[in-house]
Amino acid sequence: EDEIPEDHPRYQDLITRHRIEAGVEKGITHLQGMHAEGRGSAFDYLLGEETIPSADAAERAAAAHLLLADRPVLSINGNVAALVPSEMVALADATGADLEVNLFNRTPERLQAIADHLREHGADEVKGLEADAHIPNLDHERSKVDADGIYAADVVLVPLEDGDRAEALDEMDKTEIVIDLNPLSRSPQVADVPIVDNIIRAVPTITEHARALADADEDELRAIVEEFDREQALEAAEERIRTGTTDE
Ligand code: ATP
Ligand code: MG
Repeated sequence: EDEIPEDHPRYQDLITRHRIEAGVEKGITHLQGMHAEGRGSAFDYLLGEETIPSADAAERAAAAHLLLADRPVLSINGNVAALVPSEMVALADATGADLEVNLFNRTPERLQAIADHLREHGADEVKGLEADAHIPNLDHERSKVDADGIYAADVVLVPLEDGDRAEALDEMDKTEIVIDLNPLSRSPQVADVPIVDNIIRAVPTITEHARALADADEDELRAIVEEFDREQALEAAEERIRTGTTDE
């Protein structure tokens, strides 16, 4: 990371790729995570590698949801852990959310490595190792969650989530916040709050909004949640990707 000059035109993209490679070497990111990164990188290029206004609105709505929640949980997979470990810890602190490791390719070694990695970045408690509950309508390995974590959560943030699990969580009547650079992928399509933005920009922005809203009363937070239009957010992102312009 130190070897990449900061004025390189694709600096962020190179840093991102490098972090995923380091994650694979450290045993926290699955090889599949590299392909996911490649797809994300292509969409980010088309978005102009910036947070578009509709994504910022989604990030503010996400902050309001997390602050209103009784049991907010932030889900962490191998790409999330490699890209934004301390940023996820900061978001958990700003919103009172729990962190839970939740892997598509689940092994005890990777679960442990990610939990350790998060603790090295300041996390106190990391959930996901108990795996004593199941999300209905998913195959056994893919459905494992903590009974007092994602299973009982009223609001979940699932960045870079697989489409099947995003759908199954949606059917559990949770408020689902998804971060995904592809607005046509199933996960943002089923989300209550689809955030079409790079996780590297999205998470710190949600945290900033949460800090700015720390003293807001419940009515104000509810108004932000109500005002957010998920269809409009998905359409604005798709339009930016297809035409390079945003009509907002
Ligand atoms: P499926 O249709 O099965 O969901 P997919 O192409 O969406 O396939 P997944 O592995 O499920 O693949 O999801 C990876 C998703 O994460 C992709 O939509 C990709 O664009 C997105 N993604 C990858 N890197 C980032 C990132 N840094 N920030 C935000 N989204 C990302
Ligand atoms: Mg997907």
